[in-house]
Amino acid sequence: MKRTAIYPGTFDPITLGHVDVVKRGLKMFDRVVVGVADNPDKKPMFDVQTRVSMVEETFKGEPNVKAVRFSGLLVGLAHEHKGDAILRGLRAASDFEYEFQMATMNRRLDERIETVFVMAREDYTFVSSRFIREISSMGGDVSELVPPVVIPYLKKK
Ligand code: ADP
Repeated sequence: MKRTAIYPGTFDPITLGHVDVVKRGLKMFDRVVVGVADNPDKKPMFDVQTRVSMVEETFKGEPNVKAVRFSGLLVGLAHEHKGDAILRGLRAASDFEYEFQMATMNRRLDERIETVFVMAREDYTFVSSRFIREISSMGGDVSELVPPVVIPYLKKK
């Protein structure tokens, strides 16, 4: 039986912190489905299709990673892709409260789906999509913090 993790997020854009979380997920699961949230309320820099494309290009050589867009309930996405668990990353204590609430809500919605947390490599604890957007829009170099495929997308903005 193949084990599948669902890794949801905004990925606006995908960073090396996200990539590290996916790689750690693949140590525990056979497949990781990256769920790119279509949530216009967040006013993302990149539209959802572009965010999905950046994830797809990042994991082009990795058949066990799939990118999909989603809206609506996360447990719905998990059911659709036969997910056994939800995968999330933790950076600092500040991530904890929101993650704890989300995991608790999702467990109320479907008791069978566990949320699994991994910590990214120390070098990436300060990396966030927001940080990348800000630095990049001010002309700073983020090439060591995002997958190479993301750079041309940032330059276009
Ligand atoms: P969301 O809007 O759901 O927070 P993000 O794309 O910002 O979406 O993040 C998705 C997940 O990846 C979250 O669980 C977040 O904590 C985790 N994550 C993001 N960056 C890092 C990082 N540098 N190290 C570890 N986890 C991270």
